[in-house]
Amino acid sequence: MSRAPVIKGWCPGALRPMLSGDGLVVRLRVPQGRLTPAQARGVAELALRYGNGMFDLSNRANLQLRGIDPARHEGLIDALRAQALIDVDEGAERRRNLMVTPFWQAGDDTDHLTQQLTAAAQSHALPDVSSKFGYAVDAGPQPVLQADPADIRFERAADGQLLLCAEGATLGKPVSRDTAVAEAIALATWVRAQDATRAAHALAAGATLPSGFNHPRQSGLSTPTLGLYPTGALVACAFGQMDAETLTALADLGPLRLTPWRMVLIEGATELPDLPSLITDAADPLLRVVACIGAPGCAQARGETRGLARDLVASVPQGQCLHISGCAKGCAAPLATDLTLTATARDQYDLIRNGRADAAPDLRGLTPAAIASHFRKSADAP
Ligand code: SF4
Repeated sequence: MSRAPVIKGWCPGALRPMLSGDGLVVRLRVPQGRLTPAQARGVAELALRYGNGMFDLSNRANLQLRGIDPARHEGLIDALRAQALIDVDEGAERRRNLMVTPFWQAGDDTDHLTQQLTAAAQSHALPDVSSKFGYAVDAGPQPVLQADPADIRFERAADGQLLLCAEGATLGKPVSRDTAVAEAIALATWVRAQDATRAAHALAAGATLPSGFNHPRQSGLSTPTLGLYPTGALVACAFGQMDAETLTALADLGPLRLTPWRMVLIEGATELPDLPSLITDAADPLLRVVACIGAPGCAQARGETRGLARDLVASVPQGQCLHISGCAKGCAAPLATDLTLTATARDQYDLIRNGRADAAPDLRGLTPAAIASHFRKSADAP
């Protein structure tokens, strides 16, 4: 049987959901990446009423409701619209693919630019390049989103200037608050004119950026660890999966900011919450394991993932990260991981070292017991 997954070529939204093994996946592009406590409680209640009560935190900082009955999708959208969580139309939703640093402060450049980009998406002033084309608004003192997927970025240079950057380019263009969004529209228009769906593809094909992209970017920070920050408390959920009860409990602690790291920042919190369903210890070994929903939740999955991840977590060799993928598509980790297990059939996994889920395997057809034994031997090896 072929390992090749079906590539759909588009990302789901709320207005254009995707059918999966457990019903519709409704992906909410939460405005500003921030849920007020009332919105969080409301979404949790809707997930129980219309779906299976489970959420995914996506690697684009979106919140996915799962298990939605297609016949009730319209009712869900009406209820979400009443919570100010739905765009004016599908075209606006597709364009408003914004990822925002969770460390923004009210009135700063990130806050200001996100609001302007949001307005430009609603009016369709942002070009419709592709459903995967997105923006990272990351204008704090040093970028934190450089490892996360985006095509156009707002960052700060080492000398403090606000830069507009294209993914794949080492130089950015200095912009001001007043010119930033118009310049971003011009850059997105340029990508589309190259017959490309992603900025990095256009550059890799040899296209030259328009004039003005001549200012050095600075290296970003690595993904933040769990803990307390001036803007709040950063906590995680195993595999980025959260249930409605946890979301409701988090809503009692403050507004919630979504991140692309399968973490949530509780705005204004000055201590870490004590909720058993959350990870608050940066040394928790579950943070070294990523796994997509796998079978039976995903129709494309060849095997189970998250149960196996919990079983294996204690045997993953120290200092290494493990990715378990229900098929070769590798949704949970698009980049290479130290160890990847790709399901090929029920209780059968290929092991790939330092590669993606679709790379050539180092070992084929391992059972869960054989994998655990292999990891233990690797850990014991001198
Ligand atoms: S990687 Fe996982 S979530 Fe993605 S299509 Fe395959 S089984 Fe489904």
